[in-house]
Amino acid sequence: MISFLKKLWTGAGAPCPVCGKPLTLLHGKAKKDDCDWQCADCGLVYRTIHLMDEMNEKMP
Ligand SMILES: [Zn+2]
Repeated sequence: MISFLKKLWTGAGAPCPVCGKPLTLLHGKAKKDDCDWQCADCGLVYRTIHLMDEMNEKMP
């Protein structure tokens, strides 16, 4: 999960964890610390900041 996030964050991109299709950037690269990705196939949006917050909350 962390390596998946890192790929999104660095802008390298990653396959959708659900269907395996490549994710596409939602807003281009205007703000580097706010890169959201969307799966064109199943429509899921991956907000990297939100995902990181969720992971931090789960960590002891
Ligand atoms: Zn998908």
